Amino acid sequence: MLFSRRTRVILLGSLGAASFVLILAALLNPRQTITLPFGLGILFLLFTLFFLMFYNLTGRKAAERERRELEQRFSFLVRHIKDYAIFFIDPEGRVMSWNKGAQQIKGYTEAEIIGKPISLFYTEEDNLLGEPRQNLKKALEDGSYESIGLRKRKDGSVFYADVVFTPIYDDKQILKGFAKITRDITHQKKVQEDIQVTLRREQELNELKSRFVSLASHEFKTPLSVILSSTSLIEKYPETDMQANRLKHTHRIKSNVNNLKQILNDFLSLEKLEAGIVSNSPVEADLVLLTREIIQDMEEAIKEGQQVHLSTEGMPRAILVDTHLLRNVFTNLLSNAAKYSPDGSSIDCSLIYRPTSVDIIFKDQGIGIPPEEQEKLFERFFRATNTTGISGTGLGLSIVKRYLDLMGGEIRLTSLPGLGSTFIVTLPA
Ligand code: ADP
Repeated sequence: MLFSRRTRVILLGSLGAASFVLILAALLNPRQTITLPFGLGILFLLFTLFFLMFYNLTGRKAAERERRELEQRFSFLVRHIKDYAIFFIDPEGRVMSWNKGAQQIKGYTEAEIIGKPISLFYTEEDNLLGEPRQNLKKALEDGSYESIGLRKRKDGSVFYADVVFTPIYDDKQILKGFAKITRDITHQKKVQEDIQVTLRREQELNELKSRFVSLASHEFKTPLSVILSSTSLIEKYPETDMQANRLKHTHRIKSNVNNLKQILNDFLSLEKLEAGIVSNSPVEADLVLLTREIIQDMEEAIKEGQQVHLSTEGMPRAILVDTHLLRNVFTNLLSNAAKYSPDGSSIDCSLIYRPTSVDIIFKDQGIGIPPEEQEKLFERFFRATNTTGISGTGLGLSIVKRYLDLMGGEIRLTSLPGLGSTFIVTLPA
């Protein structure tokens, strides 16, 4: 409207008075021909203005009614939305309104939360960092602010939230508060994390496979050429009294075939571990018997003149163990002891029965391991620097460690370069 209410009253009043005076003057003095048309003219103007004002007023009232209805419908909608916490906070960060979604997501009822600070929804760490204030400040600076982070429910539990703050101003650009919309994205976050884990595992597996191809082509070359040359050499000893030479070569062949078998075994074990399909299935087992069997099976893998001595301490008893996993652990440790020790050396294997555990110790007289490299020994593909010329993949001990983790066991070692190594496996019993 062009004029204020007061101006309008004065204007209409003056026009009314003027037309009244002019018409009255015309009636009192009918000979004056000019005053009547003037008075009627002003009266007409007065009616027209009245009409326009009335029309305008009804229009404004209808628009106002419509706006109020729309507001009511909107606030009903906001109050009943369940998946989003939508509420208003004052410029100081205190809750001014609350909807069903907010109650569902955060756990507070309207009566409990109105007037309380939004810091209640933040974790202690975020509060210490001043996050609530920072968020409001950023919303003021940028016109709106979105953040994703952990938020706290009334019961203290936390959830991942996507939060948007938007400042609200009145007609005069005075800050009235903020609208805050919170969405619980814990489920989406979990799905996202699961996808990331699967993707990472897939990438690792691919990397592993391509490493295997290059490693296998490299590691297979030496033993295969030894096998080939030994086989050719055997043919050169046809006489009966040449048995010693033949045996030397068949032993080399067997030992190299065993090396290849071990490499393939390691890769298969690792692939199964990576795919998460290895599980611990314990059965009651006699550890002494099992170890003796493994030592016998290893005969072809040990070098010429090497001997494995088995001893026990304490009271031997049946223990619950996954014999398949344990066989793999012992085979790896024994074949390493043999591989990294000279011909003719001895390997001691002791079983020590304690009240709630068993220690299985493998002690060799081999090349030892540099102290600074010992902590990396159980990492995939790691090989110590003193292994040049000795074939291997650096996978065996990482598999041993992961199998023992599955079985609830442990492994540690003591070793000095040139003085041999001792690996100690501890199993619950
Ligand atoms: P690989 O023997 O195939 O290289 P492992 O994972 O079995 O792989 O062993 C990792 C590394 O640990 C070896 O490369 C070697 O440096 C060291 N190692 C393991 N066992 C012994 C041992 N008994 N004596 C000396 N070094 C060892």
